[in-house]
Amino acid sequence: MLTLDILIIQMNKAYSRLHSWRKVGILFGIDSAVAIRIVNGWQPGPKTREKLGLPPIGTVVVITGEHLPHGTQSIGPRICVKCGRPFIENTATRTHCFICSPYRG
Ligand SMILES: [Zn+2]
Repeated sequence: MLTLDILIIQMNKAYSRLHSWRKVGILFGIDSAVAIRIVNGWQPGPKTREKLGLPPIGTVVVITGEHLPHGTQSIGPRICVKCGRPFIENTATRTHCFICSPYRG
């Protein structure tokens, strides 16, 4: 499944090959300004996500207690670099828990 992190890598690779954000935009079927915003960390909205083949944005549930709800599955938590709390990341690049860096959905 394509993720935003992978898409950003693909767009940056395309830019290093094409040397033009306009051409990158054409390649991915979006406006060049949108491509630039995405590689700079902007979260595309639902229509752009669909156009790019990205999955819809999910819902994040912040759990402040010590126990996870029944049925929760995870490969394991990460430790927040700011507060030291464990958290389950929604992207491979997230380094802060959802309390220190709230989800912007
Ligand atoms: Zn934190």
